Amino acid sequence: MLPVVAIVGRPNVGKSTLFNRLTRSRDALVVDIPGVTRDRQYGEGKVGPAPYIVVDTGGITGNDIGVDGAMADQVQCALDEADIILFMVDGRDGLTSVDQALARQLRIMGKTAKLIVNKTDGADPDVQAAEFYELGLGEAYPIAAVHNRGVRSLMDEMLEGYEPPEEDPEWERTLKLAIVGRPNVGKSTLVNRMLGEDRVVVFDMPGTTTDSIYTKMERDGTPYTIIDTAGVRKRGKVTETLEKFSVIKTLKAIEDSNVVLVLIDGRQGLSDQDLSLLGFAMDAGKAIVMAVNKWDGLSGDERVEIKRELERRLEFMDYADMHFISALHGSGVGVMWESIDAAYECATRELSTSLLTRILEQAVVDHQPPMVYGRRIKLRYAHSGGRNPPIIVIHGNQTASLPKSYLRYLQNYFRKSLEMVGTPIRIEMRGGE
Ligand code: GDP
Ligand code: GDP
Repeated sequence: MLPVVAIVGRPNVGKSTLFNRLTRSRDALVVDIPGVTRDRQYGEGKVGPAPYIVVDTGGITGNDIGVDGAMADQVQCALDEADIILFMVDGRDGLTSVDQALARQLRIMGKTAKLIVNKTDGADPDVQAAEFYELGLGEAYPIAAVHNRGVRSLMDEMLEGYEPPEEDPEWERTLKLAIVGRPNVGKSTLVNRMLGEDRVVVFDMPGTTTDSIYTKMERDGTPYTIIDTAGVRKRGKVTETLEKFSVIKTLKAIEDSNVVLVLIDGRQGLSDQDLSLLGFAMDAGKAIVMAVNKWDGLSGDERVEIKRELERRLEFMDYADMHFISALHGSGVGVMWESIDAAYECATRELSTSLLTRILEQAVVDHQPPMVYGRRIKLRYAHSGGRNPPIIVIHGNQTASLPKSYLRYLQNYFRKSLEMVGTPIRIEMRGGE
């Protein structure tokens, strides 16, 4: 399972700077569930030997630690779910009473945290770190997040032992479908519906449940694993309370899947959180199918309106199929499997060098790359650099000078030529000054 790294510390010590270093997501995930504070950021990344989920707890001021020593709920929650806690202090400011209160709180919670002294640029790191020893958190780790100094070796050390195990090839080959969405969107209802279909054979997977529920099933002879983030333990039992909703659980499920089914509530419309879940799944390179649930009982006008809104705000997802379903009544659920299968097939398809090179050549004939300093940028050949998501590696000259617009052109060209649906495609350029 993916380790969760939480960054804690008072405001302004550099937590979000480090967060940005550690995550490859373009946008941090925002949470807009009532009762869940907005100022926490989630991301995924891989700096060092293992991928992880990283949480920026958003800054604890002295006021969050009340008279009874209770920390803000959400921070507490993040710390409970974290495998690695980075406790960040500011080397330039030196030790403050808020740092001390925080360290005390971690001790009361029985949490082991690694002491990170940031902003050690411009002074002797060891001297700066020395005064923090009295926090009782052991040896300090000096970094300068803004210059990315010390970050890599910090993560090398932190993630030791979290290297992903060799995958079982059979497990790797099965389609793992994560079903995600906000609380009450209908995840449990849908999972029950999918597992309850006539043509589905369900295998319980005891012992493999940490937080999400993994259920193996077979549909028309094809094996699938459903990753149920709502955690329906028994068929028919529907439970998920707001308090139990865990963003980290959702992110882990996405990371563990090949295809993500993002459920959107047709009655509520698209929320910021739906957008960030989609963005997260996309950044993680996962294939995506979208389903707008609770389509039953909506008037014709309402349907037109929500469709228009989705079209407008989900333009960036135009490669993924969208279904309008009723998990409750089952309508639209059957055909959704076709999109799931298609997205998986596209995401994992073998792409030969000759095919990719032929498409590249055609793309260049149709629309030449621009000139740079009087010379035409040359694109020579393309080959596959990985699957799920498909990575297309293109070799040429001066490829670093290719404008973004041309990269987008190539991406679209490959998508169309390969008839790829449901999966992001990554283009990587090699070669040239
Ligand atoms: P947060 O409130 O803990 O998330 O802190 P930020 O990441 O927003 O950083 C607060 C300020 O410290 C910003 O102006 C950063 O540019 C600055 N900062 C962060 N890391 C470093 C560092 O390594 N060295 C220096 N000199 N400044 C830093
Ligand atoms: P979860 O929190 O995402 O697992 O959501 P649930 O599956 O528990 O559903 C939340 C509520 O929405 C329940 O009362 C369901 O009966 C209801 N619900 C789920 N799917 C549909 C649907 O397609 N149509 C309607 N009208 N209600 C639904």
